[in-house]
Amino acid sequence: MGLALGVGVAKIGGLGSLGGCAEPLAEGTGADWNALARLLPGRVLRPGGVDFDDIATPWNLRWSDRPRPEGIVRAASAEDVRTAILWARDNGVPLVARSGGHSYAGYSTTDGLIIDVSTMTEIRYDPASERAFVNAGARNTHVYAALGEVDRTVTHGRCLGVGVAGLVLGGGVGFNMRRIGLTCDQLVETDIVTADGEILKCNASENADLFWAARGAGGGNFGIHTSFTFQTHAAPRLTVFNLVWRTRQEAVLRALLDVLHAAPNELGVKVSVTAKPVASAHAPEIAVNLLGQYAGTKAAFEELLTSVYQVARPDLRPGTEFIEEADYWPGQEKLSEPGHREFAYERSRYVMKPLSDTAIGVIFAHLRAWPETSVGAMWKGFLTGGAIRDVAPNATAFVHRRDWLLSGTEVNWTASDAPEQVKRSMTWMDGFHAAMRPYTSDECYQNFIDDGETDWRRAYYGENLERLVQIKRKHDPRNVFHYAQSVPLTI
Ligand SMILES: Cc1cc2nc3c(=O)[nH]c(=O)nc-3n(C[C@H](O)[C@H](O)[C@H](O)COP(=O)(O)OP(=O)(O)OC[C@H]3O[C@@H](n4cnc5c(N)ncnc54)[C@H](O)[C@@H]3O)c2cc1C
Repeated sequence: MGLALGVGVAKIGGLGSLGGCAEPLAEGTGADWNALARLLPGRVLRPGGVDFDDIATPWNLRWSDRPRPEGIVRAASAEDVRTAILWARDNGVPLVARSGGHSYAGYSTTDGLIIDVSTMTEIRYDPASERAFVNAGARNTHVYAALGEVDRTVTHGRCLGVGVAGLVLGGGVGFNMRRIGLTCDQLVETDIVTADGEILKCNASENADLFWAARGAGGGNFGIHTSFTFQTHAAPRLTVFNLVWRTRQEAVLRALLDVLHAAPNELGVKVSVTAKPVASAHAPEIAVNLLGQYAGTKAAFEELLTSVYQVARPDLRPGTEFIEEADYWPGQEKLSEPGHREFAYERSRYVMKPLSDTAIGVIFAHLRAWPETSVGAMWKGFLTGGAIRDVAPNATAFVHRRDWLLSGTEVNWTASDAPEQVKRSMTWMDGFHAAMRPYTSDECYQNFIDDGETDWRRAYYGENLERLVQIKRKHDPRNVFHYAQSVPLTI
């Protein structure tokens, strides 16, 4: 692969310094951390060191009071990752991998060793094969910069700080997915460092079992991935939009869901119903939001929305709400979010058939009764189907291929909200999630990883669970890579 691209890094809250200076080493707590520091000079961070606390803090501040890691390795290469894994294994130190740090359940956090690949951000594009070679620490922001230069795309997220590693290893949903598949469907090769310190190339013909597992179940389960190669696609001109309705909300949602059910694959959207606190009112403001892109003209997109416009036209508050044609990457800049650490609780379920009026009633009744925090709550749905269905549920580890919507509930808050208030909101959200159960399947999206899900093994992996367990036994029989919801050695 030729052509190394200069990758500009947009500002992402909380990533901390990317420098690899030697850190003052605190007293060890059993393991010989100084030995690790000698093996990886300048790349081992210990408590008390510059930036340690910032780097150790997960994106979801809900987990920020967890015990801090004993150490962090800021790996610069696959060899560094191997050294760190073998040292941790031989010293009995629990380890986790971290890329973008955005695990909803804080599963890239440990009181042992974080092997952090987030400084490995190089992306190279090969014009001959139209493939992009992406190092494991790249985040969405690096993909935007690198693929923007060559006017190509893959399926990516819109939150700039989310790691490509976590995204692709758990599937990867984005506004392109109905046109060109999930992020994991574009993966053609990946390198992984296993528990035994082997550096393995995985593709359709080499280590094909790990390659299969990496496409939907790779996050923290079988080893640490150090690079990903993606087949890219042309970046089309788009209509991008962020539309909000603040009147006739139920009828608007009904009409929108009907449109979405028959929508062409060129349409990629998140539809949501949001509740926001209003200082002077006793009830939250409820709005319907349609955010996304259409690979076609504005006129054609608005034609699709005719029946919704007949119910009500969206407000278009200047600055944040828009509908406009744009080249692909400038369009993504409009849709993207810089991202900053926040307090969040989110749960998901796949929806197999169009939501009934009763289900819509449940959504609005719950959001109107939300026991507020200072930030907001929502129900949301990402339109699935399209190219995602072109792949069989057992062709990759990503099993969710037959649904039409990925739905979710979410609540956010800040440190200024009283703990009882937050607890009330989280309990309310669990009730909302349960009330939607008659209208959804049992399946949940593994990348919206949910510590509250009890049947998570089947919910994330369905019929693919048995094969994943076999692969786990073969490649990580001592369960070096484990966390509360990792692929188990037995079912
Ligand atoms: C604000 C926000 C926006 C999001 N938007 C989207 C979206 O648009 N589409 C979507 O599909 N998902 C989205 N997600 C979910 C996201 O895909 C997952 O949270 C994903 O796991 C994050 O990856 P990460 O590398 O940032 O996180 P991390 O916390 O670093 O990693 C997540 C998991 O993968 C493991 N892991 C990390 N790096 C490696 C590696 N190199 N090798 C092996 N395992 C590794 C970690 O140990 C952890 O278990 C979003 C999440 C947030 C918080």
